[in-house]
Amino acid sequence: MKFIDLDRQYDVIGKEIEERMSRVIKNKSFIMGPEITELESNLAAYTGRKHAITCASGTDALVIPLMAYELKKSEAVFVPAFTFYATAESVVLGGATPVFVDCDDSYNMDVKHLKVQIEKVLEEKKLTPRGIIPVDLFGQPADYDEIMEIAREYHLFVLEDAAQGFGGVYKGRKACCFGDISATSFFPAKPLGCYGDGGAIFTDDDELAVKMRSIRVHGMGSDRYNNIRMGMNGRMDTLQAAVVLPKLAIFDEELEKRNYVAEQYKKGLKKKYVTPAVRENKVSSWAQFSLLAQDMQHREEIIKKMKEKEIPIMIYYPTPLHLQTAFDYLGYRKGALPHCEEYAGRIFSIPMHPYLTDREIGYICEELNSIA
Ligand SMILES: *Cc1c(COP(=O)(O)O)cnc(C)c1O
Repeated sequence: MKFIDLDRQYDVIGKEIEERMSRVIKNKSFIMGPEITELESNLAAYTGRKHAITCASGTDALVIPLMAYELKKSEAVFVPAFTFYATAESVVLGGATPVFVDCDDSYNMDVKHLKVQIEKVLEEKKLTPRGIIPVDLFGQPADYDEIMEIAREYHLFVLEDAAQGFGGVYKGRKACCFGDISATSFFPAKPLGCYGDGGAIFTDDDELAVKMRSIRVHGMGSDRYNNIRMGMNGRMDTLQAAVVLPKLAIFDEELEKRNYVAEQYKKGLKKKYVTPAVRENKVSSWAQFSLLAQDMQHREEIIKKMKEKEIPIMIYYPTPLHLQTAFDYLGYRKGALPHCEEYAGRIFSIPMHPYLTDREIGYICEELNSIA
């Protein structure tokens, strides 16, 4: 059994993907070919955003907007500590200082603690608050109404990290349309993945869109031989756009299947495990289906037993960002963010993809329940 079974998806649309890729190879339109324009227009239509800008990875989709904000080291950007490393790494690459926020029992940024951290930064007077990067962790959108209210109160920008959240819904609105700018990733294991690295940036702001398109290609101006700012080589390959296009066409169907799998898991596992708390006004894109073991030792046992049964288990995430070596310089201590530290010791993820069969779901639940 595979944790994410891309072979089964390939059985459905592999032929179309290969045809699309062959066309790019035949036309030699590897850089910024017509598939890029087509994908950007389809992504904007899907999310309801005015601008969709493809780029080389989900990390670049965070770094490019942060470069556009022209941040300083003395400026604070608030990020959850319970997320993938790139969320906070991009803040440093963008020139600012990350300030970590604890999570709530939905694993997303705890908005009450966000406010506490902002007030603390204001009180200490070492950093100036500039922005917030909420993460749609495991596919569930963050609490955007509350976050936008806080952002307005303190005059902060909001950059949605929807690397895992593409396809998620909050109060009838799709992920990648929250905040000033949104970022997603097409890393193969994300809900909408390509066959390598890729990403996209979304915004409704015309001026920011122009600036970010410039940063994506070495800070290019309207005269391509006169660069007007620092940028990067952050373009998405046309070949990768050729992969995402057919996948986007079946994405809604896959989302329904993911939600079916999640429902079956919840029914099968809720008596013995803490299953994910998806809020009433939200739909998850189920980038991960995560459970809580009783404690770290119980989790070890689960991983060992599941390995024997050939059921793959992953841990997202064993170490919250504020306790990672690269962020030692920020001076956080163990116990600083108790909720994410607790979850990091107990959480584990089980196979999640649209093509899991009832039989496989039943088997996974049965084996997990037998060692609960
Ligand atoms: C995967 C991921 C990223 C980075 O995306 P890449 O395409 O791997 O660069 C950023 N943030 C989160 C929350 C992610 O899960």
